Amino acid sequence: FAASLAALDTSVPPPHRVPRTTTPMPPGAPFRNAVDTDPAVPEHRAWASALLERAARSDEGARTLAEHTVTDERALDAVLASTQEAGRAWGAVPAAERAAILQRAGDAMEAARGRLVEVMVSEAAKTVDQADPEVSEAIDFARYYAARALELEAVDGARFIPAALTLVTPPWNFPVAIPAGGVLAALAAGSGVVLKPAGPASRCGAVLAEVLWSAGVPREVLALVQVDEDGLGRRLVSDERIDRVVLTGAWETARLFRDFRADLPVLAETSGKNAMVVTPSADLDLAVKDLVASAFGHAGQKCSAASLAILVGPVAKSKRFLGQLVDAVGSLEVGAPWVSTSRMGPLIEPASGKLLEGLAELGPGEHWLLEPKRLDREGRLWTPGIRTGVRRGSAFHLTEYFGPVLGIMVAADLDEAIAIQNEVAYGLTAGLQSLEPAEIGRWVDGVQAGNLYVNRGTTGAIVGRQPFGGWKRSSVGAGTKAGGPNYLVGLGEWVRADETA
Ligand code: GLU
Repeated sequence: FAASLAALDTSVPPPHRVPRTTTPMPPGAPFRNAVDTDPAVPEHRAWASALLERAARSDEGARTLAEHTVTDERALDAVLASTQEAGRAWGAVPAAERAAILQRAGDAMEAARGRLVEVMVSEAAKTVDQADPEVSEAIDFARYYAARALELEAVDGARFIPAALTLVTPPWNFPVAIPAGGVLAALAAGSGVVLKPAGPASRCGAVLAEVLWSAGVPREVLALVQVDEDGLGRRLVSDERIDRVVLTGAWETARLFRDFRADLPVLAETSGKNAMVVTPSADLDLAVKDLVASAFGHAGQKCSAASLAILVGPVAKSKRFLGQLVDAVGSLEVGAPWVSTSRMGPLIEPASGKLLEGLAELGPGEHWLLEPKRLDREGRLWTPGIRTGVRRGSAFHLTEYFGPVLGIMVAADLDEAIAIQNEVAYGLTAGLQSLEPAEIGRWVDGVQAGNLYVNRGTTGAIVGRQPFGGWKRSSVGAGTKAGGPNYLVGLGEWVRADETA
C-alpha cells in the first residue's frame, strides 16, 4: 500500500476528476460550484495521504517568491509602472476574451488542486479538510467572475471603465481562496493587478500566481510582489497609481490604509465577532456539529468563525447538549497539519496579545468547561477551549480573538439573543439553530450581519449562493460582496457611452 501511495501523483486532482474546459456560463445560467475532495471515497483518501507526505517536506513556491521579493524603491516603482500600463491594455481586451482566460484559470486550479493544497498544508498550517474547499472556492471565483465579466459589456447606453491598477492584499488564513477572489475579480473587470500575499503565507500566493500565469493570465497584467510591510509596504499602499485596493484583514488595517492615502478606494472585508444562537426548538445534535466546525475549523482563525454560542432558555441547562459539546470539542485531535489524524493544526503565529488573553485569562463570572492547554514551547499548538459564564459587555463578548476558544452566553429569549449578537461592533456572520419558522423569521429580520446562516455553520460561504461580506466594522469602503453579482462593479466605474467617445 505504501508503494502505491508513493506512486500516486498528488500534483494532479484525485482520480475521479475530469477537468472541464467550457465556455463561461452565459449570463443568467445557474452557477455550478466545484466539488470538494471527499474523504469517504477511498481514492480521495489515498490521494490526500500521499499529499500529506509531500507537504511535510514541501517548499513549493519558494523560488517564485524569491524572484518576486522586492527590496528597493526603484524596483517597486518599475513593477507599478509596467502593471499599470499592462492593465490599461487589458481593460481594452474584449470581455469575452478575458472571461475565456479566467475559465482556463479555473481549470488550471482544478488540475493543480494537489499543489495548492500541499502548499497550504506545508506553509499555512491548514489541515486538508480546510485547504481542499479553498481550492474549490478559488475555482468558483474564476468561473463565476468570468460570467460576470460578460455582463459588464451587456448594458445599453453605458460603458464600464475598469480601474487600471488594483492592489490585492489578502490575509494568511485563506491564503489561496481570498487572493484568488481579489485577483480574479480585478482581472475579470479588466484591471491590472499587483498581488502582495500575506507574509506568513507568501509561498501560497506564489503558487497561485504560477498556476494563473500557466493558464494564460499575462505576467505583465498580474504582478506578484512581496515587500517588507512596514517599509516598502507603506510606499506600495500610498502610491497614487493604485486605483483600488482589495483588502481582507483587520478593520484597523483598513483604516490605516486610508490614513496612508485618504482618497484610496478600498474594498475591504474586515474583522468579525460572530455568534451562533441555539434555541430550544433546535436540532441539538446538528447544533453541536455546526458549532464545533464554526468555532474550531482552522483553529478558529477565520473572520467568519463563531466564537460565541448564545444558548436560549432551557438549552443553557441541557446537560445532554453541553455534555455533547464538551465531548466533541475535547476529542478534536491537535497536531501537525500533515498528520492525517489532526483535526486542528497549530496557530499560524504564536498566541500573543488579545488572543493569549482569550486563551488564558478568565473574566469575572467565567469558568472553563474545557481549559485550553499549550502543547508546545512556542505557543502555536493549543488544545481547544470552551469558557462559560461570559457576560454581556465583557471583553470576551466583544473582542475578536481569532483562535480556538469558544465562549458560552445565556439569553432568556430570542430577542435577548439578538440584542447580544448586535451589541458587537462588527457584523460579519451570524448563526441560528432553530426549527421554528416564526423564530427564524424574527431572527433574520433582527440580526445585523452580512451573512446569516440558519441550521448551518457560520463559515465557508459558497460563491454564487452566499455572497460574502459584512456590516458595521466588518467592512470598509464599497461594501459589495465577494462571490456575488455586484462585486466587479466596485473595480471600475460606469460612464454613459456618449461621454467616452
Ligand atoms: N469567506 C470565508 C468564509 O466564509 C471567511 C473569510 C475570512 O475569514 O476572512 O468562511
